[in-house]
Amino acid sequence: MRRPMVAGNWKMNLGRSEASALAQGLVDGVDDVNNAEVLICPPYVHIADAEAIVSGSAVQLGAQNLSDQDAGAFTGEISGAMLKDYSCTHVIVGHSERRALYGETDELVAKKFAKAQEHGLIPVLCVGELLEEREAGNTESVVARQLDAVIQANGIAALENAIVAYEPVWAIGTGKTASPEQAQEVHAFIRNKLADMDSGIAEGLRILYGGSVKSSNAEELFSRADIDGGLIGGASLDAAEFLAICRAA
Ligand code: PEP
Repeated sequence: MRRPMVAGNWKMNLGRSEASALAQGLVDGVDDVNNAEVLICPPYVHIADAEAIVSGSAVQLGAQNLSDQDAGAFTGEISGAMLKDYSCTHVIVGHSERRALYGETDELVAKKFAKAQEHGLIPVLCVGELLEEREAGNTESVVARQLDAVIQANGIAALENAIVAYEPVWAIGTGKTASPEQAQEVHAFIRNKLADMDSGIAEGLRILYGGSVKSSNAEELFSRADIDGGLIGGASLDAAEFLAICRAA
């Protein structure tokens, strides 16, 4: 039985005091969240404050990105070791905004995935198709290509200690959620594809859905066989709403 997970991607939102208030709100409510594992990924500059607030609670801490390098002349970058120093347990890699806006290729994402694991962080690997790719019938080939880049570089065994998030790009921040059937179909595709390589890893892997998840649609999505929780953007910025999504998982 896979334990559900709900992860909040705060993106580039919230000032310092707002971020701390949100983290505190989640700590105050997390004990009522039955079974779900709860993760927050604040902007880098809020991680230290968040660490102090979530310490000792069931709220886990992660980052939205990491460098593919360890240390040195890489202005503006943050290493996996630095994140580990601030008690991060997870890191998002390959979010569609990183791929689309910052030119992250499948190869770079695969390197970041490896760096995360090298530093003892669990990568939350995002995959998903653009609207035009879905309309052209290429959803599965795009998702397969994104997964294969990571598997070719790191081996199928690397997915034993990782989380995958299926995030159709057309559903992120648009208010347009994939239907539970559409999401389940791609989640099942991912699990079946991995099962051809290693059935144990495929069975144990948590595959989160992301794309305009709200408390009003979470339960229906999370009830599908291969949807093991969610990666939440906009709705993770409100403690009550995010906790309601966690309760749905
Ligand atoms: C995301 O940022 O990963 C995301 C899914 O955003 P939203 O929930 O706002 O669509």
